[in-house]
Amino acid sequence: MTENIKSITMGLFGWVKKRVRFRIRDGTDLESEILNIIAGPIYLYTILSVWVLMMFEVIPYFYISTCLLHRCFITTVLVEMMSNWLCMMYVSNKFSPGLAQDRCMDDIKNIKHSNNGLLPQTEAASVANKQKLYWYWRPCLSCNISRPPRCYHCPMCYTCILKRDHHCFFARSCIGLHNQRHFIVFLAWASLGTTYSALHFVYYFLKVYWSHVSILDLFAPFTLIRWIFGYSSLYLTHTMLTATFMIFFILLSTTFLINQVELIAKGITTFESKVIDRGKVKVTDSRNLNDKIRAVFGSYWALNFLVPLHLIFRPVEDPLNWPSIKIT
Ligand SMILES: [Zn+2]
Ligand SMILES: [Zn+2]
Repeated sequence: MTENIKSITMGLFGWVKKRVRFRIRDGTDLESEILNIIAGPIYLYTILSVWVLMMFEVIPYFYISTCLLHRCFITTVLVEMMSNWLCMMYVSNKFSPGLAQDRCMDDIKNIKHSNNGLLPQTEAASVANKQKLYWYWRPCLSCNISRPPRCYHCPMCYTCILKRDHHCFFARSCIGLHNQRHFIVFLAWASLGTTYSALHFVYYFLKVYWSHVSILDLFAPFTLIRWIFGYSSLYLTHTMLTATFMIFFILLSTTFLINQVELIAKGITTFESKVIDRGKVKVTDSRNLNDKIRAVFGSYWALNFLVPLHLIFRPVEDPLNWPSIKIT
């Protein structure tokens, strides 16, 4: 029995050690890897706790005749967030090397590339060359394939992602060509749901909890410490943790949502917005706003906010040639 436990423990330890070493060697860091592991459970804990809190405590306290209506609303938010979160995880943006392997340019094969999609750092590279290189097909040294413009390797996903926007730690997946729509719909429902819940919760907290909690309980880390030493209940600690994460998610989802709307209007990705900020290259999309929206959501974009439609209405986009994109 003891031997079995020992061998299982050693096996697990070896697996973790090997995994951590491999990830660091492969172009990521320990902080990102830890974030990649804990962000998803934090999201699930928060969303489910908020739903339970609203359904069985806050909404019944405020509403009697319209209780069912409010419960339906908060459940709709939960279903929309969860379905789009799952789509963010499982809708693939992986670039298939069979599409055009021979398009890799021989003259740039030997240029040293970074694995996280940064521009090639050659000493003599002029601005013009950087602009040109940015739009070439380039080799991915990790996947051993050539990749089209706007396609970058993600060290966390271990693959090349079409129109890579960024790696989302909460979904443990990259946001790119096919799942950006789910990311935006998720953010919209998250902003709406968390704001609605927080406004109700603050008022509920002042009415119900305020008179018998310590001021220290307002800050989740202190509540946690007070609970450990027996000064606070487990339920209050859980409620304050939920409230803290809820406020955090309001700020995060709203900020990301505004940012994504701006990016769609410009027709660029998060990565490209940083490149533009650094003055390296300027990426512009010559399409009108309607076409830029269709490039992300496909046709009938508004329907995506009710039902995931990535299998029916694909993004109206050419992910290999990008005919409407101009680099200056
Ligand atoms: Zn790759
Ligand atoms: Zn990724």
